[in-house]
Amino acid sequence: MHIGCPTEIKPQEFRVGLTPNAAREAVNNGHKVTMQAGAGTGAGFTDQDYTDAGAAIADTAAEIFETAEMVVKVKEPQAIERQMLREGQILFTYLHLAPDPAQTKDLLESGATCIAYETVTDDHGGLPLLAPMSEVAGRLAPQVGAWTLQKANGGRGVLMGGVPGVGPAKVVVIGGGVVGTHAARIAAGMGADVTVLDRSLPRLRYLDDTFGGQFKNRYASAGNTIELARAADLIVGAVLIPGAAAPKLISRAQLSELKSGAALVDVAIDQGGCFETSHATTHEDPIYDVDGIMHYCVANMPGAVARTATIALGNATIPFMLALANKGWRQACADDPHLLNGLNVHAGQLTYAAVGKALGIDV
Ligand code: NAD
Repeated sequence: MHIGCPTEIKPQEFRVGLTPNAAREAVNNGHKVTMQAGAGTGAGFTDQDYTDAGAAIADTAAEIFETAEMVVKVKEPQAIERQMLREGQILFTYLHLAPDPAQTKDLLESGATCIAYETVTDDHGGLPLLAPMSEVAGRLAPQVGAWTLQKANGGRGVLMGGVPGVGPAKVVVIGGGVVGTHAARIAAGMGADVTVLDRSLPRLRYLDDTFGGQFKNRYASAGNTIELARAADLIVGAVLIPGAAAPKLISRAQLSELKSGAALVDVAIDQGGCFETSHATTHEDPIYDVDGIMHYCVANMPGAVARTATIALGNATIPFMLALANKGWRQACADDPHLLNGLNVHAGQLTYAAVGKALGIDV
């Protein structure tokens, strides 16, 4: 199969759909890979890295879309890319169609077969192509939280690990799933005093069994949440109710109960955020102040560490990309119901029920 990978064109997107290692794997499996020139630059990969892996280089995205049988990307195709998609072509990337009727309409009209990373599943009820980005965002959260806490950034001027004779920062992580667990581990590793809140007792048991010595956990009742928030220097929002907007767990009125200069890092901002005062920000202007509380609400946190995020995403996508290339999408999806769950659009038909429900389209 001919696999093509264009340069990402969404603003501030530095990741790339294929790493040189992924390209090499595809070539070793007998496939042809074409990269757009410069596609890997933002993630620290040169064109030479790709040619060394056996890939060809094309000057333009148009050449990729014209010739490739499968296009592998990171972000949903932008309007100009959607115009280039063709009937029968496979698109393998993040799509997030439910809130995006314009993209859905264009993908239906293209006639392409579109497989979304975010709806591919695994045997444990997880989302294996979403998890790496949650791991990245979770591990990044204490790092950006520590920066937000610095005085020059409007924060309390508290050091995460404290120093001998001075106590550490108090960190509260709301939501102990993938993001929350990774955030708690890194914050604890920085020496902070960390508590994770979750509503799932099985999850709290797991956290207790696995990380009991590193950080504490509490049930996420409204009372426990505000009690811990009052004492916190840094609060990380990491809740998820699948398919729903994030619940608002700290209201604007409650900000006055927090310590002045406390930092809120709302990782759940891509689902609307779990603090009432959260609104999405960008890497260029990531933090803002509401009532003396510093908010960091970047919706695409992994973009800040594009190289790590690209390699992590590639590690997860390679087996699925190879299955699609080796067997063709029909056989690959017939053999693997988890990959079939990724199929969102085929030949003008919406094939994913939750997206159809969100957009009022028959599936
Ligand atoms: P997850 O499903 O692994 O974990 C979510 C956890 O939240 C679960 O353990 C659940 O029990 C808990 N929860 C649900 N409601 C709760 C409540 N009211 N109080 C306390 N806990 C509650 O999800 P995840 O992969 O960790 O993702 C968390 C959020 O981070 C999602 O919204 C995801 O989209 C987002 N995310 C954002 C970025 C970014 O760049 N901003 C990157 C990756 C993920």
